[in-house]
Amino acid sequence: MKLDIVSIFPEYFAPLEVSLLGKARRTGLLDVRVHDLRRWTHDRHNTVDDTPYGGGPGMVMKPEPWGEALDAIAPPSGGAVPRLVVPTPSGRPFTQVMAAEFAAEPWLLFACGRYEGIDRRVYDEAAARMPVTEVSLGDFVLAGGEVAVLVMIEAVSRLVPGVLGNTDSVTDDSFAPGAMESLLEGPVFTKPPLWRDRPVPEILLSGNHGAIARWRRDQALRRTARYRPDLLARLDRAALDKHDLATLADAGFPVDGEDMAD
Ligand code: SAM
Repeated sequence: MKLDIVSIFPEYFAPLEVSLLGKARRTGLLDVRVHDLRRWTHDRHNTVDDTPYGGGPGMVMKPEPWGEALDAIAPPSGGAVPRLVVPTPSGRPFTQVMAAEFAAEPWLLFACGRYEGIDRRVYDEAAARMPVTEVSLGDFVLAGGEVAVLVMIEAVSRLVPGVLGNTDSVTDDSFAPGAMESLLEGPVFTKPPLWRDRPVPEILLSGNHGAIARWRRDQALRRTARYRPDLLARLDRAALDKHDLATLADAGFPVDGEDMAD
């Protein structure tokens, strides 16, 4: 998978050398290129921002360097086009489903905004020749898009086949498509079985895989009810069995049980 990143702070992306992503780069699974936007400026001060039309505080990123950057990285006459991903608090929320969609793309181009964001015409011009997705990491405002891009690249890359050693860990994750799609993963434990007078739940030591799976699902349902009740509304009701319904009712979220699977 090809990943291009444009930023005025290329040094922000040093973490992409580390751990799983660093290894995936070295083995060629990920081809990451970080570009300094100022390379496409032509004045003595390498200016990338200017005052906003209409007045108001802050500065706006100028369209010219961005236009040149996008043309150089994805030439208008070239064949393949990347998906342009622009982090912005006013974008669509980033989710595991979106991460999986991005992981299936051959080429992503990330544009890191700073100041009050990038001149709107850059998006519109790019959209005429490549898909553009504006993505928000959440209901808060960061100082720039770099951290948001690091987050997205980490979430996307671990879904690229071959990047993770054990692909099962992805299917068991919170939000993973399938049984976990609208659920948070429950607690996890490792050795020793007793630590500071705190035992590991007996069931996990039983070797009874069916009972362990049931316990894990109950924990996921309870944790979701506690921290993310909004997700429960999205649960596939047809996939809830009687035990699920009892667990949810016990957690304070009774679900209408008509037509539910056993
Ligand atoms: N004036 C903008 C607004 O209110 O929507 C905020 C600009 S913010 C200070 C500067 C940059 O940080 C944005 O252009 C974007 O790249 C990034 N950013 C800030 N918050 C973000 C979020 N929640 N998700 C994704 N990117 C964000």
